Amino acid sequence: MKTEIISPVYMKLQEEISALYEQWVRALSQQTVVIKEKIDGKQFPLLPQVDLQFNEKDYHSFLQDLFKAVKENKPELGEDLVKIEAKLDGETLAKWFQEAVIVNTYYFADWAEKNSVPEWLPVFAAEHAVRPYLHKASIELQDELPKQGHTGGCPCCGEPARMALINKNGKKELICPRCHSTWEQKKIACAHCGSDAQGEVMVLKLEEDERAEIYACKSCKGYTKVIDTRKLLEVPAPEILDLKTIHLDYIAQEKGYGLSEDKQH
Ligand SMILES: [Zn+2]
Ligand SMILES: [Zn+2]
Repeated sequence: MKTEIISPVYMKLQEEISALYEQWVRALSQQTVVIKEKIDGKQFPLLPQVDLQFNEKDYHSFLQDLFKAVKENKPELGEDLVKIEAKLDGETLAKWFQEAVIVNTYYFADWAEKNSVPEWLPVFAAEHAVRPYLHKASIELQDELPKQGHTGGCPCCGEPARMALINKNGKKELICPRCHSTWEQKKIACAHCGSDAQGEVMVLKLEEDERAEIYACKSCKGYTKVIDTRKLLEVPAPEILDLKTIHLDYIAQEKGYGLSEDKQH
């Protein structure tokens, strides 16, 4: 797939971070992160309804691993990273964790301004270091999460649906690049508004690539990238696949389609 829209340095960094996730999820494997008794009812997404058990030392070590990867790939950020590291006391770590779970971009923009570091850097770091917790939570909540049907966004973390895979059985499976939850949905149906009326969802094919399509909805103007994993030699991690198919987002957005919620990142 085309990747030239993303700079090779950024892609390399993202691939290193993706490898770190695996390490971090392993580090959390013996812990229970979801405090379950808080769930009431069957409303989705589930994560905003539960508390996540947070271990300051682990979260801090994930951030330190991440800073190391950022510094190796972008040495020009060295000083900013030292500045951030110096501010990460227990209270700040707890706050970062909590605000990253709910994607409070205002909090992080404000934090960056107050501490004179690039605006994108604190939210980037806090979000990536929180993802292994979200992934672990989606594993723990598996039995409570719907395995199929229409949920609007990710039933676990609430991220807008934007990517689906055609799995080896030919079924369409939505996948969340943030927490790795998956759920099946009727093939020709909109992942945002759920419409499956005939002619409502258009399948936009790409001339140069038969492995991916864009499903665009006439009703709500939402789109989903649909990738046929049967035609891939190797299926990358969802967050990497999401980046490698970013040209599809540009095509869909140029044609006037968007993601249904404003929570994009
Ligand atoms: Zn999710
Ligand atoms: Zn729709």
